[in-house]
Amino acid sequence: MPRKRMTHPGFFESENLADLDIAAMITYQGIWVFGDDRGRIQEDAEFIKFKVWPRRKSVTATDVADHIEALVDGEQLCRYKIGGGDFLHTIAWHEHQKISHPTPSKLPPCPVHQPLEYKVWWKDDDTATDRWRKREKAGQRAKSAQEEIGIDSGTSPENVWSNSGATPPQCSSVQVRSDQAEIRSDSGESGTEIKFVRPSQIRQIP
Ligand SMILES: [Zn+2]
Repeated sequence: MPRKRMTHPGFFESENLADLDIAAMITYQGIWVFGDDRGRIQEDAEFIKFKVWPRRKSVTATDVADHIEALVDGEQLCRYKIGGGDFLHTIAWHEHQKISHPTPSKLPPCPVHQPLEYKVWWKDDDTATDRWRKREKAGQRAKSAQEEIGIDSGTSPENVWSNSGATPPQCSSVQVRSDQAEIRSDSGESGTEIKFVRPSQIRQIP
């Protein structure tokens, strides 16, 4: 049986709500109702239209997508992406909702607003959210591998460190000149591949 969820009076007192289109406000209320017990829902305008506006033909999924944009702009909703999935959660959820026996969420937590939950989720192995976790981890591994070989680092060796966000090793006994970096160029249609050598891998200058 679906959980009965009341809209808290605080819902109507939200400051930003006054600037919202009435239809967007109803979509917002629908997201409170049809979101899970952590206030999360997949960002799927078609689905939200189907749930919140089942009989109203004049409101389309495109309208609902516009409502979502307005709600994200007004900071009623937070939009986040995990493992290729698009999610929304209501930002004021905890202030207004007290659910006594919440059903565990089948959607990943927001790393910004629910950082502790996100940490736990990251190490968890629940099957409901595993596909996003796996893809998120694979994506992060690929990203760090790219940074490792300097794909996003532009063309000069100096940029390798600044773009990877890492601190260049500060060691007075090792001096690196740009002409010591191994640069391999393969000219072809795919472009030029440049491989940089870490300063630590370069032999010490006598
Ligand atoms: Zn968030």
